[in-house]
Amino acid sequence: MKTIRTVAIVGGGPSGCALATLLKRKGFNVAVFYLEKRPEIIVGESLVPAIIPMLRELGVEDEVKSYSTFKPGASVWVNKDEEATSPFAMGGGSLPPYAYNVPRRDFDKTIFDLAVREGVTMFHQAAKLERTGKGDELKLSDDTRAAIGDFFQGQPDLIVDASGRARHISRLLNIPTKTGKRKDIALFSHMSGTEPIAPFNIHLHRLEKGWSWRIPLPGRTSIGVVINADHLKDLGSTREERYDNYLKSEPTLRKFTAMGKRETGVVQYDNYQLISQRMYGRNWVLTGDAGGFLDPIFSSGLFLAIKGAFRLARFLGDGNAPNWKRYQKEQMRELFVWQRLVDTWYSGSLFTLFKVGQDRLDSALGRFLAPHMQKHLTRIFSGEAVYRWYSRGFLRFVTGPMLDLMRLGRLNRHRTEDLAVK
Ligand SMILES: Cc1cc2nc3c(=O)[nH]c(=O)nc-3n(C[C@H](O)[C@H](O)[C@H](O)COP(=O)(O)OP(=O)(O)OC[C@H]3O[C@@H](n4cnc5c(N)ncnc54)[C@H](O)[C@@H]3O)c2cc1C
Repeated sequence: MKTIRTVAIVGGGPSGCALATLLKRKGFNVAVFYLEKRPEIIVGESLVPAIIPMLRELGVEDEVKSYSTFKPGASVWVNKDEEATSPFAMGGGSLPPYAYNVPRRDFDKTIFDLAVREGVTMFHQAAKLERTGKGDELKLSDDTRAAIGDFFQGQPDLIVDASGRARHISRLLNIPTKTGKRKDIALFSHMSGTEPIAPFNIHLHRLEKGWSWRIPLPGRTSIGVVINADHLKDLGSTREERYDNYLKSEPTLRKFTAMGKRETGVVQYDNYQLISQRMYGRNWVLTGDAGGFLDPIFSSGLFLAIKGAFRLARFLGDGNAPNWKRYQKEQMRELFVWQRLVDTWYSGSLFTLFKVGQDRLDSALGRFLAPHMQKHLTRIFSGEAVYRWYSRGFLRFVTGPMLDLMRLGRLNRHRTEDLAVK
């Protein structure tokens, strides 16, 4: 690859616009192709503390704060009546002890407007890409180049795919993907009048079937259900009917939403846990969801999308011989480690740990271990667990071998599979 000076970014979401800003600051000639996001609500509203240092570096934390709710922690419900709250402050470590719950349209606009203020050129149209015939090299189609007045004076040196789940380049080049085991769907809407949440933690519920989130936004609560589609098919023919009927039929959701009113349509997302097996090619590279996305249980998506942008900007350096192989390795490893944490939710081991902790709190050992356990569990929700080798190792031990050993010694009376998410 020749020295990179000009960059075309496909997709004006958080990853694409954060990257555009960072590259503009480094002096690259950069343009973003964007499509206006028109849905009335966009999923991905809860941030993790790990994103805050990047929002500060971008210079937008105050703006984000102005329209969001302040999120001091996460609450996990093993069932309708059993809750474990993790204030981020318990995680210790180097991250701020808070995050925000963000109305996504506002958040995306903040990152987009920032790029505009920094002088990034925005093209309000889809970028059409084609193969050049030289290996996996890509180019902007002639129509696209004409439509942007030959902005790059030829072809850009690098094309970045930040098109999110559209995965523009991966689809064009048929790049193999690794998908997860689960084939769930998510249905979500914004409601008013539901059970108030204070302080504004995200609430995650293990349900009899699937799981759900409650995210307190200003004046509304975002309520989403992640569930195997088979569980919904008899509940109605439209997604609205299925969502409304599920809320009424599920004991936990009924408890928290009985007085609620749905203020928006219901949006459906499917397709979970998908990682592209290649993240770069001759003159292109992937970032954000376009490279891979995980089940949203721990709200890692926006953090990973923006972190990917920071990483890509770092690897691009001054444009001379970026080590894309290493970039790919780091991106994939990070997704893999998060995925391992996600698995502890679905397998039931996280809930078993909670139950065992409750059972053992009356013993001296239980009381001694509880704060340590709480600290590292909290780090799952702040994003820090993935980046500290000790937390990673500790969590692997306590959600795996430790539970097995305790069962052998009759100190754990719970079967992990009984607490799995169905
Ligand atoms: C059910 C669910 C719940 C989630 N909950 C959370 C959460 O609580 N917290 C969290 O942090 N994350 C969450 N996420 C994940 C989060 O929404 C994504 O990870 C995040 O939006 C990824 O950002 P991105 O910039 O990579 O992609 P996107 O936000 O999808 O942006 C991509 C942009 O590219 C545009 N585009 C596509 N094709 C083209 C083209 N050809 N030309 C030009 N533009 C194009 C799209 O219109 C879009 O605007 C959730 C995801 C799901 C599915």
